[in-house]
Amino acid sequence: MDTPTPQSRLDVLSLPLTALTALLVDSYGERPFRARQLYTWLHQRGETSFERMTDLPAAFRQRLAAVADVTPLVVDLEQRSMDGTVKYRFKTRDGRLIESVYMPSVDRRTLCVSTQVGCAMACRFCMTGTLGLQRNLTAGEIVAQVHEVNRRVALEEGLATTRPLTNLVFMGMGEPLHNFDNLKAALTILQSKEGPNFSHRHITVSTVGLVPMIERLGAETDVKLAISLNASHDGQRSELMPVNRKWNIAELMEACRRFPLRQGRRITFEYVLLRGVNDSDEDARRLVELLRDVPAKVNLIPYNDSPGLGFHSTGEGGAEAFREILATGHVAAFIRANRGRDIAAACGQLANRSGREAEATALNH
Ligand code: SAH
Repeated sequence: MDTPTPQSRLDVLSLPLTALTALLVDSYGERPFRARQLYTWLHQRGETSFERMTDLPAAFRQRLAAVADVTPLVVDLEQRSMDGTVKYRFKTRDGRLIESVYMPSVDRRTLCVSTQVGCAMACRFCMTGTLGLQRNLTAGEIVAQVHEVNRRVALEEGLATTRPLTNLVFMGMGEPLHNFDNLKAALTILQSKEGPNFSHRHITVSTVGLVPMIERLGAETDVKLAISLNASHDGQRSELMPVNRKWNIAELMEACRRFPLRQGRRITFEYVLLRGVNDSDEDARRLVELLRDVPAKVNLIPYNDSPGLGFHSTGEGGAEAFREILATGHVAAFIRANRGRDIAAACGQLANRSGREAEATALNH
């Protein structure tokens, strides 16, 4: 019999509990409760060794160990920022590199999760965008980032819990809504009570504005929505974000107005401040108009240097002036603290080096 190659091994980590149960019952003749036991080991305790799943029968464990892959990613680089941020670089089974960013603060531990290798959206100011899309991550590769960082943080900080992370933001490499099915399966797993049991209140998915997919996100999940707006009118946005030529600002805002919001919830709008490009007083006033009838909160992101792209950050004074115009227009705005800049882990900086190395790896195959 053929030995399965890593790629062809059974991808149990990608399966929500119902799908895992169906598989084990139909193809393996196991009882449903065995699926639940296995799922709990994988997704609640983050166990990666079948050997240690001691309440499963030995024969079942051996069979799983022979066919199943539960470690689709390994950490191959860990960089620590002076501000406590940690950037983890993972290598996939096919040698691709992705990054996740851990951001501890006084009241929460947040992980910024990647959903694709590279990105197809080609936003002009973003480093990840320069890579192009290499491939989608599987649901298993998405949840493995969370499991792996949970395990490491618990170990390092000497915590008894198997789930030290409190918040997840899908703001890493890739466009989450461009990989909707795998994102949705990953959310189902991450939010399951037999798994890590993250609350919808603590998960945010950020998008460039794929309008039809925003609708699906609202209909099929209950997580929070963030929109990378980054511009105050169509000409400007189409220049910066090619996606705007497909769905313009009016269509995007209409999708936001239709997005089902739970009581008191708001949509976060991210706005990267680019000096002399989108940071004028006029821009701020147009932004107030755009957001007039949307429950919104604006995160102003100081631009992080991405060499060669030709953009520069608005200064602190300019950012504060921009924020004040929004505040005067009754739009809640916050200047986002820059984290992990010293290790190129900040917004838009993911894949600086790893991207090029990933390409080199791909060429060597
Ligand atoms: N594709 C999704 C998820 C990535 S989020 C999305 O765009 O929403 C990454 C965020 O970083 C986006 O809001 C993007 O506008 C912002 N960004 C990209 N490059 C940046 C840079 N160099 N400095 C600051 N923010 C940047």
